[in-house]
Amino acid sequence: MTRCIICKNELKEKAIKCPFCQSYQNWKRWTGDLNMLSVITLIATIIAIAAGYYQLSGMDTSLEQLKKTNRSLVQNNENNSKEIQKLNDSLVEMNHEVKKRQIEANKLTKVLQIQQEYISNLEKNIKDLTTIIESK
Ligand SMILES: [Zn+2]
Repeated sequence: MTRCIICKNELKEKAIKCPFCQSYQNWKRWTGDLNMLSVITLIATIIAIAAGYYQLSGMDTSLEQLKKTNRSLVQNNENNSKEIQKLNDSLVEMNHEVKKRQIEANKLTKVLQIQQEYISNLEKNIKDLTTIIESK
């Protein structure tokens, strides 16, 4: 003989359900009169929730990786922008230098023209003088 785990009345050996208080004496006491379908549904729900949490943690990992990738892309972009700005600055400087040189070259060309005019005037004067000397 054994006793009911709830009402402590005496039961037959290996009795599954107490005839006095209707309590199940095995694992069924946890689920009461739930049928098997309800138990399976409950287990399936628990598995689904667990799978959901698992997926969610996977998504967290993916999200973290995406954030990391994004951070390095932003960093690269900043570095590239700085590099482009530097190149742009030196291009502006080079352009300035080229303009200065062009102005100098123009000045030199003018000086050269004046000198050539001067030389041709001198040549003309020499010719004139030579003509005068020869005529005398
Ligand atoms: Zn009982």
